[in-house]
Amino acid sequence: MKYSFVSHLYCPKCGKNYDTEDQNQLCKCGSPLLVAYYMEELKKVLRPEHLNERRPDLWRYHELLPVKREENVVSLGEGMSPIIKMDVVGKDMNIPNLYMKDEGLVPTGSFKARGAAVGVSKAKEVGVTELAMPTNGNAGAAWSLYCARAGISSTIVMPVDAPEVTKKECLAAGANLFLVDGLIGDAGKIVANAVKEYGMFDASTLKEPYRIEGKKTMGLEIAEQFHWEVPDVILYPTGGGVGLIGIYKALRELQELGWIDEMKMPRLVAVQSEGCAPIVKAWEEGQSYAEPWQDASTIAFGINVAKALGDFLILDAIRQTEGCAISVSEDSIMSELRTVSSFEGAFVCPEGAAAFAAARALREQNWIKENEKVVILNTGAGIKYPNTIQGDSNVLHPEEALVMDKDVSR
Ligand SMILES: *Cc1c(COP(=O)(O)O)cnc(C)c1O
Ligand SMILES: [Zn+2]
Repeated sequence: MKYSFVSHLYCPKCGKNYDTEDQNQLCKCGSPLLVAYYMEELKKVLRPEHLNERRPDLWRYHELLPVKREENVVSLGEGMSPIIKMDVVGKDMNIPNLYMKDEGLVPTGSFKARGAAVGVSKAKEVGVTELAMPTNGNAGAAWSLYCARAGISSTIVMPVDAPEVTKKECLAAGANLFLVDGLIGDAGKIVANAVKEYGMFDASTLKEPYRIEGKKTMGLEIAEQFHWEVPDVILYPTGGGVGLIGIYKALRELQELGWIDEMKMPRLVAVQSEGCAPIVKAWEEGQSYAEPWQDASTIAFGINVAKALGDFLILDAIRQTEGCAISVSEDSIMSELRTVSSFEGAFVCPEGAAAFAAARALREQNWIKENEKVVILNTGAGIKYPNTIQGDSNVLHPEEALVMDKDVSR
């Protein structure tokens, strides 16, 4: 049987098709391209049971991924992250069926490894030897490390304020790292000029079509891990929105295969910070596209994206699933981060904390009903952002006894 059932690339805006053997970027019309598969053919030969024997990473879904030859797969074991019941926080929020899918456990400490694994593998397959990308940190870290494994040279441009650890990861990988005194949009412009000048492949979010296929596997996994009965609500911290678009695409594909109920889609929720909420604004105003957000700023760096190229796809996915978009305050992100970490022992990233804060708010508004099954994507590890936790610890002399603070014990 074929390793991949990939058919072609198509433009969701103008309908033009492209060949997956070429090095593709955006459609001529400026829209991102999406990957199509031979679904009818696949439906006849693949069944859910076939997955049982397979490796516990995202390549278990290789028929629904774009890499045609297995020898091109560049993997560090990414995928099949755990889904954990959050009983204590769930009780606190009055959502007894609250779950977290923990993407902090995939290689490089964020779900960006999924996009990088599939994007870099496909880049290798179509003969890319040098690529460049703008990033808020995690994507650059993941892509530079997967590029190192693939033998592809990488040039990464990120804001000076990006998390320190992600810069170190790029340097460890041997990437050409540049910092810009600005936002990810500024990094994007610099990369756009550099790829023209030096002939590198542009791996910017959605300017290459395969990152989304890697991120889509979060949706495939959620369905499989819940035994092909999808949850009621999925909350996703949304920056460029690739993960949300990907999860939506995955669920549609599973419906086409007949593996999940054709009538039931989880309501997809795009979560943003009040410091950068272009999708939420567009959603509230009933727009199909988002306007660039002015002076974007949030501690949840991964979702500090003022203008998303796939804005129309995000808004469509929310609409089609009867989901919503919601912003949360910076204070609520920080307090939720502490709540989840101290109640559950899960040191989530600020982006994940934002999604928890959103779940709490949506339950208060009764948008989430008490007995609904709710899944939150914690998109990265808290340890990648050590500065989110402040607090002094007493330093003792070796002979000194420690004195307990009474209110420390629970
Ligand atoms: C990139 C990133 C996001 C946002 O992901 P998109 O798919 O681009 O919306 C969320 N959380 C973390 C930790 C990230 O690195
Ligand atoms: Zn087009």
